Amino acid sequence: MSGRKQKWSEHPSATPQPMPTDKRFIDLTGRVFGRLCAMFYVGRTASGGLWHCQCTCGRWATLATSNFKYDRQISCGCYRREVECSHEETRMAEYTVWKMMKDRCSNKRSRLYVNYGGRGIAVCEQWRGSFRSFLNDMGHRPSSKHSIERVDNNGHYEPRNCRWATMREQLRNKRNNRRLTYDGKTMCLSAWAEHVGLPRYLLSGRLNRGWTPEAVLTTPINLRFSRPSKPRC
Ligand SMILES: [Zn+2]
Repeated sequence: MSGRKQKWSEHPSATPQPMPTDKRFIDLTGRVFGRLCAMFYVGRTASGGLWHCQCTCGRWATLATSNFKYDRQISCGCYRREVECSHEETRMAEYTVWKMMKDRCSNKRSRLYVNYGGRGIAVCEQWRGSFRSFLNDMGHRPSSKHSIERVDNNGHYEPRNCRWATMREQLRNKRNNRRLTYDGKTMCLSAWAEHVGLPRYLLSGRLNRGWTPEAVLTTPINLRFSRPSKPRC
């Protein structure tokens, strides 16, 4: 039954049936599973009973005994909607990006962990705990060719260090031998960053946006342009 689409309705939509009398049959009448309560018996399948259940939000549906094993189901979906992402959200491409990002930073069994979590790259707390927060900050992925890029390759996954970029843009940014000539001097970006006292990712981001070397190196950080914090859900 867990694979079948459940029909939840505002009112009871089944009639009680007489319960089987065999001793092995487990009566779940009145039993509570999270937000669900098995209200009455309505039939059986090969694996157990079918129960007309009510959720604490008021909705009714018929569920099989197997739905309750190992806390497989604890609400009509209202709990999930409140604390987790909706089914629609989990099917978004951005959700997969979010999940894989967390996986390579924190799951030691991930094939990619060694290059991320193993190098000390982490996902900021607000993103770790909430896909919606991640989506709020990043916006939707512009196209299927875009993936998440950390502007500073040694920086964390956090709003100020991430953006959607195509593979081509990412390769361009990863070239750590990027050189910049200004005022008669040619140095790599890291050296310039140290020289002018600005973070390397900032200079790199400005270059990507097509700024001139002078603007890249002499424009101070303007906090007024930083992204305002969004309300968390
Ligand atoms: Zn509910």
